[in-house]
Amino acid sequence: MGEQARDQPDTTAEVRIRAALDAVPAYVAGKPPAPRDGLTVYKVSSNENPYPPLPSVLEAVRDAAGAINRYPDMGVSALTEALAKRLAVPAARIATGTGSVGVLGQIIQATCDDGDEVVFAWRSFEAYPIVVSLAGAVPVAVPLTEEHRHDLPAMRAAITDRTRVVLVCTPNNPTGPTVTHEELVDFVEQVPRDVLVVIDEAYLEFVEGEDAVRALEIHQAYPHVAVLRTFSKAYGLAGLRVGYAVAHEPLAEALRKTATPFGVNTLAQVAALASLDAQDELDARVADLVAERARVVAALREQGWDVPQSGANFVWFPLRERTAAFVQACEQAGLSVRPYGSDGVRVTIGEPEANDRLIDVAAAFGP
Ligand SMILES: *Cc1c(COP(=O)(O)O)cnc(C)c1O
Repeated sequence: MGEQARDQPDTTAEVRIRAALDAVPAYVAGKPPAPRDGLTVYKVSSNENPYPPLPSVLEAVRDAAGAINRYPDMGVSALTEALAKRLAVPAARIATGTGSVGVLGQIIQATCDDGDEVVFAWRSFEAYPIVVSLAGAVPVAVPLTEEHRHDLPAMRAAITDRTRVVLVCTPNNPTGPTVTHEELVDFVEQVPRDVLVVIDEAYLEFVEGEDAVRALEIHQAYPHVAVLRTFSKAYGLAGLRVGYAVAHEPLAEALRKTATPFGVNTLAQVAALASLDAQDELDARVADLVAERARVVAALREQGWDVPQSGANFVWFPLRERTAAFVQACEQAGLSVRPYGSDGVRVTIGEPEANDRLIDVAAAFGP
């Protein structure tokens, strides 16, 4: 009381926002499931690891939590050293960041001026057009083949004098198929040496098969190839935001320059380190998820669904105009899944009960 009514300050926006942002699509995150009476609901919309953190990882995070009044180690040195040793590459070639999406943003910032082009497959990871447009670069989206795979010859043909980067997502999110090692070597061989090829291996750990891409080997052999990896999926640390690139020294150095200072926080650093130390336990979880993926894909095909082979922790339903109806059927069964316009639906391999539920919904819905 007793306060004078004040004139409203003039909040008319005069601050200018970069026009490049008009072209930036908003990231659509996977939705959490709505609660349903008498039904356990599952979030299978974000390709998260359904397992809770390992006890050893939690303990490392708890111990480190007592020091969060301090800035993190800016050089991320212990994790960088551990990764370098594990991958048998010089530490100078490792660049960490706030998730591999963060690192990808740094890559585009480090390589692209306004109007430079970045080629990628489409549909693919929805962060691609966002980080490219944000940097003022131009996204060049090359349609997938009928089999939902990268069309590498078409991607090669899309490279122009303005192209600075090509992104290869293998396995491809959201459709699942992988590029083979031979296909990728062939492709990299044809890409001009001043164009960077980024191999996004977010789902590497879930890949099976003799023809799997050996990305580090390709990186070692070609100076214009970098590899992008993350602790978010197989390692189950999506909530902590840590990923990295393996890049030749000039690019790795540029990535250190474009990093948000102290971006990779202390808890993320210790959790990633502890996860590397618990590799066997994590591998066992990945093996279980891969077995579940095989079970789900086999059951769906048995039902008559034409789902592509997936090398990742999700399956793709190319539903087209039936997309929204399938999402609704899943929601009614307590599954939150991820629709992509009127292309289809991606469903993460989750707990066995969630996967059972998916198989039942798919059977009732019909292929
Ligand atoms: C999930 C994902 C990432 C990793 O994202 P983070 O930022 O590391 O959590 C990168 N690329 C693709 C294709 C993904 O699906």
